[in-house]
Amino acid sequence: MRIAIVGTGYVGLVTGACLAHLGHDVTCVDKAPERVAAVNRAEAPFHEPGLAEMLSECLVAGRLRASNDGIGVVANSDVIFLAVGTPCRDNQIDLSYLTAAAENVGKGLRRGKRQTVIVKSTVVPGTTDTLIRGILEQTSGLRVGSFGLCANPEFLREGSAVSDFMCADRIVVGQWDEQSGSALANLYGSFECPKLFTTLRNAEMIKYASNAFLATLVSFSNEFAAICEATPGTDVEEVLNAVHLDRRLSYRGDSARRLGILTYLRAGCGYGGSCLPKDVSALRYYARQQKVTPHLLDAVAAVNAARPQQLIALAEKAIGCLRGATVAVLGLVFKPDTDDLRDSQSLIVAKLLQQNGATVRAYDPMISAMDDPAGARICATAVEALTDADAAIIATAWPEFAAWNWAKLCSMMRRQVVVDGRNVLTNTKFPEGVTYIPIGKHFELGHLKEGAIVGR
Ligand code: NAD
Repeated sequence: MRIAIVGTGYVGLVTGACLAHLGHDVTCVDKAPERVAAVNRAEAPFHEPGLAEMLSECLVAGRLRASNDGIGVVANSDVIFLAVGTPCRDNQIDLSYLTAAAENVGKGLRRGKRQTVIVKSTVVPGTTDTLIRGILEQTSGLRVGSFGLCANPEFLREGSAVSDFMCADRIVVGQWDEQSGSALANLYGSFECPKLFTTLRNAEMIKYASNAFLATLVSFSNEFAAICEATPGTDVEEVLNAVHLDRRLSYRGDSARRLGILTYLRAGCGYGGSCLPKDVSALRYYARQQKVTPHLLDAVAAVNAARPQQLIALAEKAIGCLRGATVAVLGLVFKPDTDDLRDSQSLIVAKLLQQNGATVRAYDPMISAMDDPAGARICATAVEALTDADAAIIATAWPEFAAWNWAKLCSMMRRQVVVDGRNVLTNTKFPEGVTYIPIGKHFELGHLKEGAIVGR
């Protein structure tokens, strides 16, 4: 099948590369010329494990290319995906990229050849069958039915996007009519996972329900972390580990086979990234438009918004005062194995520290000084960030942090305080004199003066 993918970002490019890998003929379209040029050089414009290799393979085989001629590419395609960004502006979904992209797609649709347009971007219910359908009909001069229309939300996760796409757990096919749905199902013919054929609006809602569920688990865990931090004798790690062993969540006694969902049922500094925060916001706004007060989602967002402040409060409690202190923020991207800074909670931690008068030095294995996020000094190494620092805050759960020589690193700090905002160092042995503060565990100030280790 000849496929056009409009929007060559995380979702569009991964979808394009994977479908080309499966044998389809794919052209990725983007309005950013540098992105098009990078893809045509087989360079992934962002970090995603396995993507660069797949791009090279498909470019060499002649099954994948990128272009900025959206109209021409659409005219020559059987199936057209819309995969542009749908960010949040003023708390509601901003559909301007999608409507602009849909206009071009409409101009490229051809009479007498049933092409299928598939909305892969995350959009609030009703967007595809009203707004997008209207734009496509107006700009093409055709009626839906002479072209097919689907909503096919994407569930891949950054950091494991290629394997998530190739080993999908479900494919949701929102269809205008059966013919539209079968065109999309053909495309995914080799996938063995469940395929759910449903209405366009259900497909759109399913994506929000999925992300809202994940965000709820994160905020549930973080609410317990905050309560445990205020309750002597409790530790959220032990509390939630025991919850995980519920036979409805775990294979009994086999910690290696715990359900993946449990990674969201852990304390941290909150959910971030390009999806959960903006999708929860868009859904809350949408619910209110429908005259429904989303009590639970409001609380989920409020817990998330409070978490960075709670984290820096732990550092403040340990060092006495943030004003004039130097704090190393370790990890800036929203999660490991990406270079994506969008809506990262780490950036909020860095910003709050600066607002409280601290000097921030940040280190992230994926971020260089040129990126200049959060207005903080970006260090090339952990040593540079930690030398003479009064505290370190771990804000992203990079696994490599656990492999560092913390005895050596702490010896370079002015005051040896490590706040573990992701609880990734709970098995690390710290030398005498280091104050290690995991999240979700109460600590007494008195102990800290002697440099007590709060963590395990
Ligand atoms: P992105 O910002 O990484 O990429 C969007 C791309 O679209 C950019 O390259 C941009 O230049 C391009 N673009 C914008 N307007 C265009 C136009 N008119 N014509 C051509 N190209 C245009 O976005 P993303 O993270 O891939 O997200 C895309 C959609 O998928 C969003 O709705 C998002 O919510 C959803 N989604 C994202 C993820 C994720 O992990 N990133 C996962 C599931 C779903």
